[in-house]
Amino acid sequence: MPDFSDPKKEFASTLSHSNARVVRAPKVTANTAKMAPHQSLREQNLTPRLPVPAVNDWVAQRLLKEYGAIFVAQGNVVRPPAIIFTNPTDCITWQSRLNIRRENIGGIYIELQTEAMNALLAAREEAVRKNLRITPRGTWAARRSYRDTEKIWSRRVVPGLAFWRRRGKLSAREAARIQELAPARQVKEILRLEAQGLYFSKNFSKSILYSGTAPGASQHISMLALDINENHQAAVRAILARHGWFQTVISDLPHFTYLGTTQNKLPALGLKKTVKNKRIYWTPA
Ligand SMILES: [Zn+2]
Repeated sequence: MPDFSDPKKEFASTLSHSNARVVRAPKVTANTAKMAPHQSLREQNLTPRLPVPAVNDWVAQRLLKEYGAIFVAQGNVVRPPAIIFTNPTDCITWQSRLNIRRENIGGIYIELQTEAMNALLAAREEAVRKNLRITPRGTWAARRSYRDTEKIWSRRVVPGLAFWRRRGKLSAREAARIQELAPARQVKEILRLEAQGLYFSKNFSKSILYSGTAPGASQHISMLALDINENHQAAVRAILARHGWFQTVISDLPHFTYLGTTQNKLPALGLKKTVKNKRIYWTPA
């Protein structure tokens, strides 16, 4: 069993209500952060906090720990209603209510929540003035559907099961059993295997969560995340941070998240700073 920190943050809403097109949260059945009953919608939007998964829901706890920064995104954006979408329908319904801006950047069409896109375009302008570029990394760089997250997940799981089977770490029967499960039901099994050192990233050296994500749990679903080609340039990362874009998934190198605020405000929002290989990451404290 992996070692999970005990979330201490108060139970809170993950919905933003500043967007008039968002009428209400879609029905989500599991790993869901429900609204705090004593708070008005306006109060919840003013004070976004990290959701608290059930004590025995270690998958949700792990996902929150890895991807949770998005739940305190500031400004006029809509935060995801749950740690994990449990089916494509809820996800489509929720996405359809977002205020989205679509742009062609470097020949690739990307979609982000409008404020996140505006901030990205401003960052790109600043980059141009400094002879730098900020470009999306591939066609899945920004928006993803629930089905996209399933596909990306399976692209890691299927080769990973074959790899560990060849290595003799997994029986053919066990590998087949896991592969036959629906992607959402594989999550617990894969994270259990990773806790034993059987990793499922592309080169089997680190967690699958750093090179893909659990189906339905991607920040890309919320259209507040973007994978960027020039992520290795410190000057580019600094420009992005000035415009509210931060790295929030440790070791997911191209991945940036729109948090809509400045770096000095992030600790007060419940995020902690980790410096790894000269990069700064912000994750739930
Ligand atoms: Zn990403």
